[in-house]
Amino acid sequence: MNNCPICNGDLVNVIYGYPTPKLIEMAKTDGVVLGGMPKGFRPTHYCHSCQEQFPQNDPAYPDFSYQDL
Ligand SMILES: [Zn+2]
Repeated sequence: MNNCPICNGDLVNVIYGYPTPKLIEMAKTDGVVLGGMPKGFRPTHYCHSCQEQFPQNDPAYPDFSYQDL
């Protein structure tokens, strides 16, 4: 398990996709975060303590755009 670079708390995985009942159950039992189906930046981890997402969006790498898909 990775730790938050800001507060050293535990990071949880962010899972993307349609929030099926199974995923919602996983979120409750495993503490994962459901990211839904965002267009654009998709962080892979989340810190409950400081409510930050990682990796943080780097201005050097603009948001992905899925508009053309
Ligand atoms: Zn943190």
